Amino acid sequence: MTARYIREEHHIFRDAFRKFLEKEAYPYFHEWEKQGIIPREFWRKMGEQGFLCPWVDEQYGGFNADFAYSVVINEELEKVGSSMIGIGLHNDIVVPYLSEYGTEEQKRKWLPKCISGEIITAIAMTEPGAGSDLAGITTTAVRDGEHYIVNGQKTFITNGIHADLIIVVCKTDPKAVQAHKGISLLIVERDTPGFTRGRKLEKVGLHAQDTAELFFTDAKVPAENLLGEEGKGFYYLMEKLQQERLIVAIAAQTAAEVMFRLTKDYVKERTAFGKKVSQFQTVQFRLAEMATEIELGRTFLDDLIELHMKGENIVTKVSMAKWWITEMAKRVAAESMQLHGGYGYMEEYEIARRYRDIPVSAIYAGTNEVMKMIIAKNLEL
Ligand SMILES: Cc1cc2nc3c(=O)[nH]c(=O)nc-3n(C[C@H](O)[C@H](O)[C@H](O)COP(=O)(O)OP(=O)(O)OC[C@H]3O[C@@H](n4cnc5c(N)ncnc54)[C@H](O)[C@@H]3O)c2cc1C
Repeated sequence: MTARYIREEHHIFRDAFRKFLEKEAYPYFHEWEKQGIIPREFWRKMGEQGFLCPWVDEQYGGFNADFAYSVVINEELEKVGSSMIGIGLHNDIVVPYLSEYGTEEQKRKWLPKCISGEIITAIAMTEPGAGSDLAGITTTAVRDGEHYIVNGQKTFITNGIHADLIIVVCKTDPKAVQAHKGISLLIVERDTPGFTRGRKLEKVGLHAQDTAELFFTDAKVPAENLLGEEGKGFYYLMEKLQQERLIVAIAAQTAAEVMFRLTKDYVKERTAFGKKVSQFQTVQFRLAEMATEIELGRTFLDDLIELHMKGENIVTKVSMAKWWITEMAKRVAAESMQLHGGYGYMEEYEIARRYRDIPVSAIYAGTNEVMKMIIAKNLEL
């Protein structure tokens, strides 16, 4: 059943986007996984066709598209492969900060290029010593005349190699009594003196996604690159992390649906003991259980997307969706690989890649333990 928020124009858009991906992404994805990066050229093609940040205001080059378009884009990208998540991160996680908290000048300078694919963005919160405990970051930004001098290190940054524009979470007031009150967001541009990138990190999965370390050694960032107000960074993050978690839930739900389809097709094809594997009752029950969990996830997710589109507060529910759907997708991945037998462990079968790609969804955008902490807090326990 189609979600209530999907209308005729979204169907048309999905068809067009799918055709684009069939031509420009599916044939090359395996190669990108081997190379460990998605070429910039692909980003530019996405931009040329209007598939980057279509929600941005028309005056900056967008289409004012509603969030259902973002859902379609993220679902279709995930169907190609989980490594496409960096594009969803740019579209629906990073650029929204610029659009919401940027000054008019910042928006005019950067948004059109984010839409055309000339600028690829990233957000750098995590440090080697601080991930879940965001208030514990140690990267500092000290005001010196017309600049901030930034010192510190970030790690695990999605789009870290490609990124031209990075929202860096810094402490502008390291002495703030409540640690989160000293946090600000600075926009660091590619050629900033004192900013360097480390190696492209080798990961268990998401092989085509470029993830990197970033280093700041007396990096000179113009004061006008402050995003929003000084000291408000933590609040901005808390606001925008909701959509980030929703995007991760959408990707994980889509991955579960893809894995189910692959597995169903496989067991209906494969023969053992003179029957199709799908004819064994134990296999049927496992598929029935998977289908049930997937349906539960989809129903909850679609309701949540609607609430988000209405601008309602989704903090508790999105935390529930993020942990439950990503754990469900992990269960589906494990079952799917098992039901593929030895072939499931072979790289030429898509399920192998899906199996190693999915666990990170329970880790990034706030770990699933952090999601439960948020839910528990809002239960006023
Ligand atoms: C592929 C990938 C891409 C990423 N992309 C980005 C990015 O673009 N930008 C960015 O800023 N970060 C990114 N991250 C970082 C990611 O958000 C962090 O890894 C994550 O938030 C967890 O932080 P950590 O790794 O420091 O783990 P830790 O915080 O050290 O946690 C270790 C374990 O302890 C648990 N834990 C911590 N505190 C508690 C508690 N109070 N109670 C119970 N359990 C607890 C955690 O849930 C986890 O299981 C990425 C990570 C990966 C792997």
